Amino acid sequence: MTELGQASDCIFCRIAAKQVPADIVSSSDAVVAFRDANPQAPTHLLIIPKEHLESAAQLQEVQGDLLAEIFQTAAHLAKAEGIDGSGWRLVTNVGPDAGQSVSHLHFHLLGGRPMRWPPG
Ligand code: 5GP
Ligand code: ZN
Repeated sequence: MTELGQASDCIFCRIAAKQVPADIVSSSDAVVAFRDANPQAPTHLLIIPKEHLESAAQLQEVQGDLLAEIFQTAAHLAKAEGIDGSGWRLVTNVGPDAGQSVSHLHFHLLGGRPMRWPPG
């Protein structure tokens, strides 16, 4: 872990640091969003904090502003993607049963097609 709270062996830290290419759609001091490499819907973006947090289970009260920015980014990107009217889903998976495959907190922003509930 570096002073900036990034893990050198973490793919999403490396994307946030621009050491690994990704289709980045928005970036701020604290939050980056990029297109998922294996999209599950016409819009499938990943919104991540630049800081390495393993999952939503690690979030603390001090990260309240960060969470607010992530949700605001989601709403802004949904509009930019033209799915604000049709609707969208913001999902974060925690642990094996939920199917978390990357241990860096990320929110999937999905939209552009009807989605079922509950998810599989
Ligand atoms: P999880 O299964 O942990 O909830 O979601 C991880 C997501 O990250 C998956 O949807 C997967 O397609 C995406 N992903 C994994 N590695 C990369 C990568 O190197 N680049 C991009 N753009 N997406 C990735
Ligand atoms: Zn990381």
